[in-house]
This record gives sequence, C-alpha cells and structure tokens, in this order.
Amino acid sequence: METRSEEKLSFQAEVSRLLDIVANSLYSNKEIFLRELISNASDACDRLRYAALTEPELLAGDPGFAIRLEADPKAKTLTIADNGIGMNRDELIENLGTIARSGTAAFMQAMENKADGANLIGQFGVGFYSAFMVADSLEVTSRKAGETQAWSWTSDGKGDFSVAPVEDGGEDGEGDGDGAPARGTRIVLRMKADAAEFLDPARLGKIVKTYSDHIAIPVIMAEPGKADGEGETLNAASAIWMRPKSEITEQQYAEFYRHVAHAFDEPWLRLHFKAEGVMEYSGLLYVPASKPFDLFHPERRHGVKLYVKRVFITDDCEELLPSYLRFLRGVIDTEDLALNISREMLQSHPVLAKIRSAVTKRVLGELKKKAEKAPEEFAAFWDNFGAVLKEGLYEDSAQRETLLEIARFASTRGEGVTGLADYLARMPEGQTAIYYIAGDDAEAVGRSPHLEGFRAKGVEVLLLSDPVDEFWVPTVAEYQGKPFKSVTRGAAELSGIAKADGEDTEQESEAEAPTTGTDSLIAFLKLALKDAVKDVRPSERLTDSPVCLVADEGDMDMHLERLLKQHRQIDMASKRVLEVNPGHSLIRSLAARLEAKGTAGGAGESAALDDAAWLLLDQARILEGEALPDPAAFARRLSAVVERGVKE
Ligand code: ADP
Ligand code: MG
Repeated sequence: METRSEEKLSFQAEVSRLLDIVANSLYSNKEIFLRELISNASDACDRLRYAALTEPELLAGDPGFAIRLEADPKAKTLTIADNGIGMNRDELIENLGTIARSGTAAFMQAMENKADGANLIGQFGVGFYSAFMVADSLEVTSRKAGETQAWSWTSDGKGDFSVAPVEDGGEDGEGDGDGAPARGTRIVLRMKADAAEFLDPARLGKIVKTYSDHIAIPVIMAEPGKADGEGETLNAASAIWMRPKSEITEQQYAEFYRHVAHAFDEPWLRLHFKAEGVMEYSGLLYVPASKPFDLFHPERRHGVKLYVKRVFITDDCEELLPSYLRFLRGVIDTEDLALNISREMLQSHPVLAKIRSAVTKRVLGELKKKAEKAPEEFAAFWDNFGAVLKEGLYEDSAQRETLLEIARFASTRGEGVTGLADYLARMPEGQTAIYYIAGDDAEAVGRSPHLEGFRAKGVEVLLLSDPVDEFWVPTVAEYQGKPFKSVTRGAAELSGIAKADGEDTEQESEAEAPTTGTDSLIAFLKLALKDAVKDVRPSERLTDSPVCLVADEGDMDMHLERLLKQHRQIDMASKRVLEVNPGHSLIRSLAARLEAKGTAGGAGESAALDDAAWLLLDQARILEGEALPDPAAFARRLSAVVERGVKE
C-alpha cells in the first residue's frame, strides 16, 4: 500500500479556462457527453485487450469487456464503468488535469479567435471535460490493470481536483475490499439540476443507440440491485467495419468517424472496403472535412488504427500507410497477421507492405474519381490536404503518375485551381514547358514582375506556395513529356510562343520597341554593378516593371535558395542575373541620358547614373522579398535621387 494521502492539485490553466466555458455554455446538444465517456471507455478496453496479448495475466481470468451504465434518479447520479486498462495516479493527473488531446487543443485555439464557445464545443468536442456540461461534480475511481492500488480523482470542475488512494472500504465484493473496480475506470457524475433527463434509462438507451452503436464493446444498462452480468445491451456491440454496408446508416458511419478520429466534424469522404483472396482485410477509412491542426507536427497521432481479427493492435503504425496519407482516419483490420505480433515485427512485415500498397491505390483511385466528378468539392479537400499529398510526388515514385493527375494548382488563369492535364490542354502553340513560380505566399507570388510577360502573352503560370513544392518539382521534373520550368530562372523563351487564343494579337507587334541605347546601358550596368550580379541582360518576361532578378539557367531556383538559406542548409547564395525591360520608360530615359553623357556631363552626372544603377538592383531585390545587403547605401542613394528630382 502506498503512503500518499489525498492531494489537491490545480488544473492546467488552459483546462480551467476550458471548464469555465463548458460549465457556462448554453450548448444545446449536451447529450454528447455520453458519447465522449463511452468512447474513452471503449478505447480503454481496446488498449487492455492489446496489452493482454503479451501479458494475459492482466485480464486476471476475466476476458470479457463491457461498459456499464447505471442511473440512480434518487441520488441523482449517473455511473459509467468500464473494465478496460484503467489509470494509475500519475495517469489520472496527466490525462484528466491537462490538455493532452488534440481535439481539445484545437478547441482552445479556435476559442482565441471566437467569442461563441458553445458552437465550438459542438464543432470540436471537449472529450472527458464535456461531462461538466451535465454534472456538478465527478468522481473517477480507477485501477490500472495489473496494479493493486486503486485511485480516486474528484473535482467540481472549478480550478482544482483531488487525487487520493482508495482506502480499504471492506464491502465492494471485488475481493479486496476497497470499493474500487477490480480493473478499469468508474465515473460517477453528480448530475446538475437541469440534467435530470440523463437519469432516465429510456433516454440513455436512445443516446447510446444514436451515438455509440458502432462501439464494438457491449454498452449495458445495469438494472439497479441486479448483479454485474445482467442488464440490457444497448448497442450492436460488433465491429462496424465488419458489418455489411447496407446495414449501416449515414449517422452511424459519421459517429464512428468521430470516435475513431477523435474528431467532431463530418467526414468529407468515406471508404468502406473488404479484400478477400490472396490477402484478407477490411477497412473503413475517412478523409476529414477540416484540417487537423497537427498535420505538420512531428508528434501527431497516427490516424489509422491497425486491428488484427477485430483486436486493436496499434494506432501508431507508420508502415500501415504512407505518411503523405496521414490525414486519413479510420481502421484497417486484417486476418493475415498473428494476434500476438509485436510492434517491432510490424516494422517491415510483408503483409503490411502489401496492404499498404493496395490501400494506397484504392484511396488515390477514390480521390481521382472525386477530382473528376466533383471538382469544387475536391478543391476544398485539396485546400486542406494538398500540401500533404504533394509529399507523395517525391516519396512514392510508384504513385507519382496518379498523384500528378490528382494534383491541383493555383495559376495566373485566375480563380480556383487547375489540374495539369487541363493546363496542358490550354497551352498555346510553341509552349514547351509547364511554367511555375514558387514563393511563400500565393498572393505575393501572383504579383511578381516575372509574370508580366507571361500574362501579356496569355501564357499560364502555376503559382506554387507550399514549402513542399520546392522539393517535388525538381524530383518530378516533367509531366507528359513537358518539363516544369520556373519563370524566375533562365531566359524566358516567350518569343517562341504564339499568343494564346482570344488575346488581342495586333497590339503585341506594336509593343514599345527596344531603343538602340539598351546595349550601351547594359554594358554600363555590368560595369557599375560588377560582382553584385552574374549578368545583366534585356528581359523578355517584363512588360510593366523596369527590372527583375532571375536565377541563371543552371542555378537553383531563387525561392528554393532562400528557403535553404533560412534553414541554414547553405550560406552563400548564388549570384543573380539582372534583367532590364528595354520597353520601360525609365530604362529608355536612362539609356538616353547615358548616350547624352558621352558628349557632355561631368562627375555629378556620373554619380547620378551610378546611383540609378544601384537603385535598380536594390529595387529588384526588394521585389524579390530579399533583404538589402547595404540598406544605408540604398537610403543615401534614394535621398540623393529624390533631392535632385525635387530641386528641378
Ligand atoms: P481523448 O479521448 O481524445 O484522448 P479525452 O479528454 O476524452 O481525450 O480523454 C483524455 C484521456 O484520458 C484519454 O486519452 C485517456 O488517456 C484518459 N481516459 C479517459 N477516460 C478513460 C477511461 N475510461 N479509461 C482509461 N483512460 C481514460
Ligand atoms: Mg475521448
């Protein structure tokens, strides 16, 4: 027996805030507290069943699992008891005193931005803490399977909770006389005055049927005064993924999604399948309608649970599905693994490898269908998970073609997203590459001066703004024989491309012809800027801006280079090419002034032209979103130029 006595502990600050919201919320759908508590009880049974595969003594001769409800209208208490894995002292404190779960954390994040907590409870759910919507106080008694000491956790949800060892009470019939369950967790809710409806067995039965029918563990309504084994089973108590589709309602599917995903939204897509033959497995997978906040956290929970012959094995099996499908939620259950398989053995198991590739194909096939049949719905999906799927473009060469067909991109064409096949279909004659521009921010990228010439010619450019874009583009390199080409790298080959249909072709030929002075201006700029640039050349890609920077043909894309520099993967950036727009009035005036200076002009004139050269370069750097290497010099030159302008 441990010697600890009762301890009073404070909830983590976030939990206290959450509990305030929960207790005061006018959220009307309070019955969901039961779904949450039953969901936790079911998880606890699954976890013990798994642990007992290798340590059968944990079951202590009682292999049957059940969740029992007991309503006592006189005492105004509702009890939910399970014989799952249970919690010891430290687990009670950690699990029921902090925000350990993703859904609750997302709820808190959303609370930062919104005043209406009630709606958010429905949207995100608050797990265990939802019990405080209906109860004034909770008493949790738990004994971890395999441990002797039981613990109680009590709280009125107002800032703190107490944890104490359960003392020998002498009359619980469990054999050890301490009043706690032999194993597992019992939660007694002291119901609020306005929550008496949840003490009515008929009402409870309906709630269980509505929200928890899919739970594979029997949920039993205990009959007061009767022994533990008796009572009515309220749910179907069989694994929902094994049932025929025709017997499952939409609501049951959706409730199972919420249970298995610990999510509170509606699933966007559902796949329920059964493979028989060489391999035998079933799966019930979902794509969430909204983006889990931890999609890019390295420590996120794995979304798809592995079962073997209906027994939960793990929700942390990296081999089960590729990480670019990590937004999937649900269950895969196979007949082809031994129940006592260890997690280590799962790591490179051939059966899992086969399931993984078959399921991946199936999922991508479904996504492709959606992309073709419901492009708008698909665009919403893509907005949530496209950046994740794109990881597959460089990770999974076997699925690359399919992924390229599914992939969607923003483009200079305007609203919405486009697929690559449609992009190719719109290419004007003479266009031989798929043009893209990459950057951190889709909107900023869309305003880049590099796009001007492409826009003027009606040549569509894909706007890539996910960090992952810089990695798959070089790996994939081409689609249908057309290479991907950055509009910020190399020479723009616009002159070889016919003007796209529907554009006015007359105007093009009249575009301001380059002045003869351009060549000498370029020579002058090269001389003035020396080592600051790799080269200076006339631009084909500019129409409105005077200058821009581009990467030379063989060099790294500028955005990738910035990204790598940020992450300290490289320290020296390569030199850029400065392109000048011969048609721009500023460039023409400069060229003219340079020519005039040949005959007249003194030191002052030289300084003015030199300032202009550097200001042009700095301007191009600013447009690229780059820091100026010498801001003081920039400010000095700008002042000088402005001053001369003001004096005139
Ligand atoms: P979630 O179920 O999403 O993890 P909850 O707030 O519902 O979040 O529960 C928090 C944690 O408390 C669970 O992850 C689990 O570790 C623990 N827990 C809750 N109820 C039980 C139970 N009946 N048996 C064992 N552990 C439980
Ligand atoms: Mg839960």
